[in-house]
Amino acid sequence: MSENVPVRGFDFHCHIDLYPDPAATIASCDDNQIVTLAVTTTPKAWPQNRRWTAQSRYVHAAVGLHPEVAAERCREITLLEECLRQTPFVGEIGLDGSPQHRKSWSMQTEVFVRALTGAQQLGGRVVSIHSRRAADDVLKCINQYTTSGRVLPILHWFSGSMSLASQAVTLGCYFSVNHRMFDHDSGIRMIRNLPEDRLLTETDAPFTRVGERQSEPHDVMTTAEELARIRGSSVQRIREAITANARRVFAFAEIDSRFKSTF
Ligand code: MN
Repeated sequence: MSENVPVRGFDFHCHIDLYPDPAATIASCDDNQIVTLAVTTTPKAWPQNRRWTAQSRYVHAAVGLHPEVAAERCREITLLEECLRQTPFVGEIGLDGSPQHRKSWSMQTEVFVRALTGAQQLGGRVVSIHSRRAADDVLKCINQYTTSGRVLPILHWFSGSMSLASQAVTLGCYFSVNHRMFDHDSGIRMIRNLPEDRLLTETDAPFTRVGERQSEPHDVMTTAEELARIRGSSVQRIREAITANARRVFAFAEIDSRFKSTF
């Protein structure tokens, strides 16, 4: 990022490569001034994502291996480890303890641990982490295989308990929040209690919807407004907090991030 990039929002978890026209979605992030982390589900998708995002001022590609495909893609672990050298952004990785993914649990764990270990060895890695029905084990792995000076974990769509959220805060985790988390009282209660200096926004698009349409990265602007309402905070204050948090994340990744808010 060059100096004083005007920014109107941050989408820290978006599957841009799953849109019908990824190049158009990237162009719309640039037009709308939405800093976006383009996560990927397999390392094979990384080179293409890197090419698509190379010219973008706002979109950064991350390399990942999604827990839901960990079993069928386990041969790509070494490729993932190689690609980790090429970007400070890692994701989507993590664990999924849902019944339909339980049988791949040991392979999921191996992939997740290898990814965290690789990120830890390289240092300066920002990692977007999936933890559905697996928050406890995800935090155990973060604690066991990473240190806060070398890996910055962002828990994406976190739905663990309040006490696990507090443990995550102690481990140095950030939280990327999407609008679907406002659908349940438990999500709202947790979001109210998260420390302001760990809050980020995301869409998990195109897996989420806004009304009748697919979410788009610019929907994070509304998410920030809703976050402010839920937390009894001013929109200005929440936007400033998210911007400051995002600056810290990008500084950790050693990416110049002199964002200039133009909310
Ligand atoms: Mn996702």
